[in-house]
Amino acid sequence: MAIATNLGFPRMGANRELKWLLEKYWQRKIGAEALLTGSAEVREANWRWQAEAGITQIPVGDFSLYDHVLDWAIRVGAVPAAYQTGQLISHLDRYFAMARGTQQGVDLPAMEMTKWFNTNYHYIVPEWSTDQTFHLDADTFISDIMSAQQFSDGARPVVLGPVSLLLLGKLKDSDASPLVLLDRLLPVYEQLLQKLNEAGCTWVQWDEPVLALDLDESTQQALRHSLNTLSGSLGNLKLVLTSYFESLRENLPLAFELPVAAVHLDLVCAPEQLADALPLVRDDQFLSLGLVDGRNVWRTDLAQALRLAETAAAAIGSERLLVAPSCSLLHSPVDLTAETEIDEEVKSWLAFARQKLDEIATITTALNDGRTAVAETLRQNAAALETRRTSIRTHNPAVRDRVAAISPDKLRRAGDYTQRQVAQRDRLKLPLLPTTTIGSFPQTSAVRQARAAFRQGDLLAEEYRHFLESETETCIRRQEALGIDVLVHGEFERNDMVEYFGEQLEGFVVSKNGWVQSYGSRCVKPPILFGDVRRLAAMTVPMAQYAQSLTDRPVKGMLTGPVTILCWSFVRDDQPRRETCLQIALAIREESIDLEQAGIGVIQIDEPALREGLPLRADDQAAYLAWAVDAFRLASSGVGDATQIHTHMCYCEFNEILPSIAALDADVISIETSRSQMELLDGFVAFRYPNEIGPGVYDIHSPRVPSTSEMVGLLKKAVDVIPPERLWVNPDCGLKTRGWVEVEAALEAMVEAAQEVRSLL
Ligand code: GLN
Ligand code: ZN
Repeated sequence: MAIATNLGFPRMGANRELKWLLEKYWQRKIGAEALLTGSAEVREANWRWQAEAGITQIPVGDFSLYDHVLDWAIRVGAVPAAYQTGQLISHLDRYFAMARGTQQGVDLPAMEMTKWFNTNYHYIVPEWSTDQTFHLDADTFISDIMSAQQFSDGARPVVLGPVSLLLLGKLKDSDASPLVLLDRLLPVYEQLLQKLNEAGCTWVQWDEPVLALDLDESTQQALRHSLNTLSGSLGNLKLVLTSYFESLRENLPLAFELPVAAVHLDLVCAPEQLADALPLVRDDQFLSLGLVDGRNVWRTDLAQALRLAETAAAAIGSERLLVAPSCSLLHSPVDLTAETEIDEEVKSWLAFARQKLDEIATITTALNDGRTAVAETLRQNAAALETRRTSIRTHNPAVRDRVAAISPDKLRRAGDYTQRQVAQRDRLKLPLLPTTTIGSFPQTSAVRQARAAFRQGDLLAEEYRHFLESETETCIRRQEALGIDVLVHGEFERNDMVEYFGEQLEGFVVSKNGWVQSYGSRCVKPPILFGDVRRLAAMTVPMAQYAQSLTDRPVKGMLTGPVTILCWSFVRDDQPRRETCLQIALAIREESIDLEQAGIGVIQIDEPALREGLPLRADDQAAYLAWAVDAFRLASSGVGDATQIHTHMCYCEFNEILPSIAALDADVISIETSRSQMELLDGFVAFRYPNEIGPGVYDIHSPRVPSTSEMVGLLKKAVDVIPPERLWVNPDCGLKTRGWVEVEAALEAMVEAAQEVRSLL
């Protein structure tokens, strides 16, 4: 019998219960007891849903109060020295201090956070030291397993394997690979396996996600060494070795050669690897088929999934198959039935986490009892997918013709950068080291309330527009008073920089409750890009024009770039991402041309997700970068030489993609640098970045107001390496999460700093 399994379930709860619990706990409105009971309820609801859906092997330990990588760092006893202070008394205080910093009694920064492979989930980066010792701290893990066993005989612990755990972290005091600690870490995993045996577990999900990456010899060796060492402690346990987000490619033989009872394959991102894998499955091994997309919202093509599953069954027997999602469902929203406002046709193409469980169960039943046992489900599935394939909304000839007709001249500005610089100087007449901001100003509770009231129909469109205009006017006046050179309208009309465009473009729907965890209690609600993308009307022009009408200073038009809209949406999976991205780029191009015609002389096209979209495997990266750059250039080069194009990027390692950033050919780029004390600028300098740069001079992620002299110091560093004619002065990122008081104080100091450094030139 094939077995229905799952790799992980969303942690937030159907109505983001965990988010509300955490935030109340942090504000001290509830105590530890309430947090722990409340979160146990979320966990139990998850187990119950999975059991009811017919999932036999249910993940346990996938849940986390903040982040599972942090949980594993703590489970192996790796609490950095600073957080071992006696002033953090409770286990929870210490945990959250590591996750998000603390200023209560003791002042500790949060540990570093970074993106989980190519997803928008962020994990806490474990800190290792060369004298690191480890010890097992798994009591809560084991007690969770005991609780889960009440819901299912098949509670399956999820373990983050030692090699990935080490490599996800950083060795702080040495340039060596964290793998030097492997032999010290393995005894802790041996003890863990013993505890899992004692708890009566059989199957264990052994996550080694690094298997999906390009692996050097030492990492391959570490994987072999770790599992060979641990195989003596397995007892009754059967490991299913899991990785996801990429094809295993040349790592396939390695995966199957290891002493594991099953290997999991992500067959959604790489169905073709099944044929290569089947001959490698040992007689004593199972195969876990990742057939249901764990990180997107599309209904599975059950017929196609079954074809793959039946191929596998024919080769090794269905009794050796585990049916699974491609990866943890952590990256999916919880329940489609809660979406009452998505139009019925599009909704029939979608599946959220709970619906995905049903799909896993259906595939399993079809394998075990034959397709006839689920004939009606298969028929409905095929009918829905047929409407998706043939709908004019997914295949609009007019859009397709326009993309096909994109000629190379549409990817190029008329003049080169030097010519444009002359035309723009002439038009904008800015001082040296011009000051600007990144776009958003504080989204106060008044702004959020007005938006909510408008959505609920309590505020008329007209009234809402007046409200936004008055916020915008205040914002413009404040920037004028501060003496900023290039102004912004403040983005008060935007809930989110991607959803705002998703709401207006044809080809998107937005969900009401389709939240996914981004980090800790923070969730995002990506719009769903289901069809051909077309701009129906101007999206940002009236507000930009209004803002410009208020002032003689230039106001920047604000757009989100095509790659960022692509990366931060649930994107259609029925055509290459490149196609979809070019459609979005055309829409943004039209918008930028309209902004120019409306008299806007500076247009910023944000691309903070450019780096995030980079494929995991080096072989695929050049192709991605080529089309991503094309998409930005298509979006930005419809305007004349005198119109200044800005772009903005933050929160990433830019250095490895600098040639592509330069190839965007934006006139000005603003980047996050202040937390690295301008170190990031070194890359731009070494690369001889040719156009203008605004290195962020203060960190907007902290409520701290920077002093003028601090920013003067940073600017002097910048002036030393970048000619002042090419230097801008701005914060790191948008100001929407801050309050007005600190924003005004910080910007006042920033303008002063710019003036001071100008006077030295
Ligand atoms: N223009 C956006 C803002 O200011 C940019 C946000 C971002 O880079 N993430 O909020
Ligand atoms: Zn930013």
